[in-house]
Amino acid sequence: MMAEEDMTAEEKAAPPAAQVLRTVEYCTSCGARLLGTGFTVFPCPNCLENEIARCVKCRRLGNVYRCDKCGFEGP
Ligand SMILES: [Zn+2]
Ligand SMILES: [Zn+2]
Repeated sequence: MMAEEDMTAEEKAAPPAAQVLRTVEYCTSCGARLLGTGFTVFPCPNCLENEIARCVKCRRLGNVYRCDKCGFEGP
């Protein structure tokens, strides 16, 4: 009987790329592209699995955002 060890230590240590959280590029409230500074990106306070993005305008106006994942709405 022979033991087979095909997995190298390097392969085991590498994290799967799919698990890296994608950075949000557009405002969750109005869909405007996030450019420059003043916008904010934070995890959904309800499910913590989705990222919410708010542009400068929506922060100033207090526009409501909605989580795509759990449907949570809030300022
Ligand atoms: Zn916006
Ligand atoms: Zn959520």
